[in-house]
Amino acid sequence: MPNVKNISILGSTGSIGTQAVEIAKKHGLRVIALTANTNADKLIRQAKELSAEYVCIYDESKLPMLKQAFDGTDVKTLCGMDGLCRIARLENVDIMLNSVVGMVGLRPTLEAIGAGKDIALANKETLVAGGELVIAAAKQKGVKIFPVDSEHSAIFQCLQGNKREQLSKVILTASGGPFFGRTRDELKDVTVEQALSHPNWSMGKKITCDSATLMNKGLEFIEAMHLFGLTPSQIEIVVQRESVIHSAVEFNDHSVIAQMGVPDMKIPIQYALMYPDRLDCPTKPLSLCDYGTLSFAKPDFDTFDCLTACIKAARIGGSMPAAVNGANEEAVSLFLDGKIPFLRIGELVLSVTEKLERRDIHTLDDVLAADEEARRFVKESYNELT
Ligand code: MG
Repeated sequence: MPNVKNISILGSTGSIGTQAVEIAKKHGLRVIALTANTNADKLIRQAKELSAEYVCIYDESKLPMLKQAFDGTDVKTLCGMDGLCRIARLENVDIMLNSVVGMVGLRPTLEAIGAGKDIALANKETLVAGGELVIAAAKQKGVKIFPVDSEHSAIFQCLQGNKREQLSKVILTASGGPFFGRTRDELKDVTVEQALSHPNWSMGKKITCDSATLMNKGLEFIEAMHLFGLTPSQIEIVVQRESVIHSAVEFNDHSVIAQMGVPDMKIPIQYALMYPDRLDCPTKPLSLCDYGTLSFAKPDFDTFDCLTACIKAARIGGSMPAAVNGANEEAVSLFLDGKIPFLRIGELVLSVTEKLERRDIHTLDDVLAADEEARRFVKESYNELT
C-alpha cells in the first residue's frame, strides 16, 4: 500500500475539487485543508465529512457562516487571499492540489513552492501568467509539479521511463469544442447556453467557455511549454474529436507514445495525487471497440482567434502570456454577462497581442501588472471593436 499523504485542496467545491475529494476518500488520503471561492455550504459539508483542520472561503463576506458552522471545534476558519496563502504554507501538508479558477491561483502556488510543498496543478492560469516564476521557484526548492490537466498529465505519463532530452515534440490533443467545423459566420449569434455545452467533458463555466473559443487549448499550449521546457515549434495541436487520446509524445526515433482513456478527469487527478502509484479509479475502463473510430484534424486558426493569440503570445513571451490570459478572463465574464457576442472574446484577446507592449517578467508584481493592464484594455475597448 502507498504511504498515506496529507493533502490540501484549493477550490474544493468546483468540478476538479469535488472529484479530488472523491479520490481522497477512496484512497484514504488525509485532507488537512479545503478552500472555496463562494460556496460556503458545500465547503462546510466537505470539511465536516473529511474532518479537515482548516477551511478557507475566498469571499470574505461568507466567513461568518464558517465561524458559526465550526464554533466550539478546533477547525480553523480563514478567508481571502491571506487565508489561501496560509493554507498553501501549512506544515503538515505533503501535496497541495490547486484547482482554483483564474489568476487568483498564482500567489498560493508560489507560497506553497516557497514552503517546499509538492503541487498538483489544475490551475492552468498559474503557469500561463507566471510560468517563468513558478518553474524557476520549483527548481530552486526541489518541488515537484504534477500536472492535473488531462493533456499535461498525458504528456507526463508518456515521459515516464523515457529520457526528456530525447523528446522531439509533443502532440497536444484538442476536442475541438462544441463549435468544431463551424465558420465565423456561423458563430456570430452563439448564445451563452450553446457555448456552455461541451461534447465530451463536464467542467466549470470558465473552462467550458474557454473550450468553446479554443482559448483553453491556447492556455494549455503555453502551460506545456513551461511544464516540459518546450519551444513553441515543438508543440503540435491536433484535434482528436473523441477525447480518447489525451496527448502524445514523439521521440527522436519517431516513435510516438500516447496516453489514452475515457474522458474523465478523475484519472489525471488521481495520478497526480497518488503518483507514482496506479490504483483502481472510480471511472469506466476504455473500450476502443465501443468507439470504433478515432478521428484527427487540424485546428482552425482562422475561426478561433484565441488559439492564434495564445500561440502568438507564447512566441512573444515576457508579459504577453499573462496579458492574453487576463484579457480572456475579463472577456469571458463580459460574454457570460451578455455584454459582448461570442466572437468578440477572441477579437479582444487577439487585439491585446497587437496593442499592448511586451515587458520582462522578474517578479509577481510584474505578472500582476501585465494582467491588470490587459483587463483594463478589455474593459475600456470592448464596445469599440467591431
Ligand atoms: Mg485540458
